[in-house]
Amino acid sequence: MVYVGVDVGATYIRVGLVSEDGQVINKVKTRQPMSGDENTVANVIIKSIRDLTGGGGIDGIGIGSIGPLDLREGIVPWAPNAPIKRFKLVEPIIREFRVPVVLGNDAMAAVWGEYLFGIGKGVNNLVYITLSTGIGAGVIVDGHLLIGKDGNAHEIGHMVIDVNSEIQCGCGGYGHWEALGSGANIPRVIKEFVRGRSYKSRLYERLTKDEYVSTEEVFRAYYEGDELARDFIDNYLMRVHAAGLASVMNAYDPELIVLGGSMALNNMDLFRRGIEKYLKRYLAVKPARIEFTRFGDDIGILGAAALAIKVPESLRTYVEQYRKFLKLSY
Ligand SMILES: [Zn+2]
Repeated sequence: MVYVGVDVGATYIRVGLVSEDGQVINKVKTRQPMSGDENTVANVIIKSIRDLTGGGGIDGIGIGSIGPLDLREGIVPWAPNAPIKRFKLVEPIIREFRVPVVLGNDAMAAVWGEYLFGIGKGVNNLVYITLSTGIGAGVIVDGHLLIGKDGNAHEIGHMVIDVNSEIQCGCGGYGHWEALGSGANIPRVIKEFVRGRSYKSRLYERLTKDEYVSTEEVFRAYYEGDELARDFIDNYLMRVHAAGLASVMNAYDPELIVLGGSMALNNMDLFRRGIEKYLKRYLAVKPARIEFTRFGDDIGILGAAALAIKVPESLRTYVEQYRKFLKLSY
């Protein structure tokens, strides 16, 4: 049995063939089209699947997409970070290949991939958190993948970490974990952080000249021993992430949290130490183990395929509904 995993990100669309036991056999990566209509993204995916398979021989297609999603219609109604904001996923793909299609959000797919094939294999209380441009999670409680009424039961990036914060999140809210700690927001947050402070630091000098400092530059400066970068990451950013992780543990009581996303994976030791330092301060329950995904970038493809390999019970009704697009059974 061979499955297709489709990882729809804000910048790239990754498509891979995955065996039933979770091996990525072959994959392609395409840039998100910069413009087009609501079928353009699906057409890119269809072409990638055809290129990989020659058009047939697949048993199911799983899609893990940036959201928010409309699971009932199988579409992304409004993706704030993608070039094309509204696009169809399920209908065009199911019409083309006539196999079951399972849609979930990207982090939801990732936790399912870890649960079936990764470090979280068989761990019935499991959370996957991506710390990257944004912050997202997939959550399994008692072996059950959480979905919610609109598919947002796990939007932990929008938990409030600081009620006094004037930093606005991409979603419009204030003081959210993602607003204070995600890769996309660190350049803004560090500017606020230095207000009223002073450092012997090249990074600080650049900020006082109103230069743009990227997240990568902040981390690089940290490893070079820059005084501001050290203070910001050790004493602020790690506290933000520890508070976020503690809140996740307090809410879901997981056994294991698997971290992914480029910011975490490129700075594993730093995150491990930093989180350990502050976690207890915010924790109400027994701590979960924290590990890092071993799949790297492939977690997107693998997780998406996992949704099709073993369809989570909580997504089954949606998969049934997608038959309406074919008006016949598969
Ligand atoms: Zn938010």
